[in-house]
Order: sequence, then C-alpha cells, then structure tokens
Amino acid sequence: MVRRRPAGDPASALGVGVGDDDPVTTNVVVFGSCNMDLVAYVPVAPKRGETVTGREFRTVPGGKGANQAIAAAKAGADVRMIGAVGADEFGAEIRRVMQDSTVDVQGLRTVPGRSGTAHIVVDDAGDNSIIVVPAANGTVDALADGDEELIAGSDSLLLQLEVPQPGVAAAAAAGKRHGVRVVLTPAPAVPLPEELLRDVDLLVPNEHEAAVLTGHDDPERALAALLELVPEVVITLGARGCTYGNRDGVRHDVPAFSVPAVDTTAAGDTFVGVLTTALGEGGEVPNALREAAAGSALSVQRNGASSAMPTRDEIADFVA
Ligand code: ADP
Repeated sequence: MVRRRPAGDPASALGVGVGDDDPVTTNVVVFGSCNMDLVAYVPVAPKRGETVTGREFRTVPGGKGANQAIAAAKAGADVRMIGAVGADEFGAEIRRVMQDSTVDVQGLRTVPGRSGTAHIVVDDAGDNSIIVVPAANGTVDALADGDEELIAGSDSLLLQLEVPQPGVAAAAAAGKRHGVRVVLTPAPAVPLPEELLRDVDLLVPNEHEAAVLTGHDDPERALAALLELVPEVVITLGARGCTYGNRDGVRHDVPAFSVPAVDTTAAGDTFVGVLTTALGEGGEVPNALREAAAGSALSVQRNGASSAMPTRDEIADFVA
C-alpha cells in the first residue's frame, strides 16, 4: 500500500521536494485519550456478584486516542499525539510505547495524579466489557500552547469522545480553521452538539453509536440521518463490515474479511487509523475502506489493543 505521486502531480512537476518515485506520507494528529488497559482474559465473563478465575492478565497501552495514533503510525502515517497522562508508572509506559511506535509525543503532557485506566474483561468468544476511569484524560479540556500548530501542520485530525467535549470542540474548530480533514469517532456514544458537528468532515460511528446519535437501528436510515449533520460517514458493522456514504450520493458497502476473532477490543480504532492514513496518502475511498477492513481483521485475530495493530506491510500482504 505504498502510494507514489502520480506523474504530473503539481509537487513533482514543480520539482518541489517530491519526485514521481517518492512514497507519499501523510501527517496525522490525534487529540484524545491515553489509557493503560488492564486486561483479564476469562473463559466466561462474570455476572453481577460473581467471581470467576481468569486465565491471564496483561497491561497494554490503550485509550481510543492512543489506539488510533498507534494504528495510523503502524499503517505508515507521520503521527503526533495531543493528550495527557498522569505522573505515574502507567504514564511513563504509555509514552514509551507510543514513541516505540514512532508517534511524536511532544503534545502529550504529564499532569499530577493518575493516568487513565481501562479495566477490560475479554471472554473466550472474543467479546469484551470495559470500565474506563478517565483520570488525566479529564484535564484535556482545551487547547494548550503549541496544540494549534500541531493541528495546523497536519493533513488529518482524529478525534474521539474520551476527553472532555470542550477540548474536542476546540480541536475540531482549529482543524476546520486550518483546512485539516476532521475525523470524529463518536465514542462513547452521547448526543453531540451542533457546534462540534459542523466542524467534522468524516464521522465514523459503529452501529451502536450510529443508533444512539440518530435513533435508527437500521444502518441505512442512520446513515441518511447522519449525512444531514456531516458531509461524509462510515458506519462500522463489526463482522458485517461497513457502509460508507457522502452528500454527493456516493455509497460503498465493504464486507469484513472472514477471520477467527479472538479479541475485538480496538477493531474500530484500527479501522479509523488505517482509513485516515490511506485517504491521506491519496487512496480512493473504496480501496481505503478495504485496507481499513484488512487492518482491523488482522487486529481482531490477536490479543490486546495497540499491541494487536498491524503494520502497513502486513496490511498490504493481507489485501494482496
Ligand atoms: P468498534 O470496535 O468501534 O465497535 P466494529 O466492531 O464495528 O467497531 O469494527 C470495526 C471494523 O473492524 C469492522 O467494520 C470490520 O471491518 C472489522 N471487524 C470487526 N469485527 C470483526 C470480525 N469479527 N471479523 C473481521 N473483521 C472485523
């Protein structure tokens, strides 16, 4: 999936930096949450009041912001992260793992107190239940010094709703001001204010989030309703794939790859990270959706969130 600038591209015609054979790289900035995922693997998840014995325990950096950043970086984008971690061992580990994945963390602040944590139970069917304690993520409620420049220097801005909405809205407005593609994953699902939606270019809810936002369980009707709010929408449908639409009437239904899923924790975040990278590199929408489906199909076959995300070579091999 290494894309090359087409002959006749103005940048190469003018001889400014990029030749016909140079790969295209895209700059992505993520404004959002960083957590330490504390994951217990169990045969069957406990019911209320019940104690079960787990098989294994792992700590893996996660949070929708960090996940999307790592997914995009592994897929080949140049990625910057804006967010906050606590002054604890989890914060140091999150920072280190993001750096190891080539994510630039100059916009990742360390604040007093705990890092965000997600307490996750994964059962043998690959289903999960999650408790998120936001902690440091709660401080990301506005743009800090330098954030606007990081956003302005990017092709795409990835947003989710695990940090306070005023922060998300301020980032989206900065993205809009600087002509950056603003991509919002509306999770956790809550009704969204018009001021935020008017700055969003591409909305990527899963089926459940689309239903909460529109009141329609049927993805077709939800898609139509969401296109009244934003110009471009992808609704992800788990193992059934995804459906895309834009206001020009373009539609694409892309099936998921049929694979044995063991852990679907960050399927949607992988999907968004890969999709944004592919679109930012100039990929056509149907191809970008297929690469995103491939990336998330690879990730659901492995345990963990960020640790399960595929590299661009793995994605290219899988779609070939
Ligand atoms: P989220 O993780 O946000 O709930 P989804 O469950 O809709 O998002 O998954 C996002 C994408 O990941 C889907 O569109 C699909 O391409 C892929 N995916 C999810 N679950 C599976 C699965 N069991 N098998 C193959 N692909 C999957």
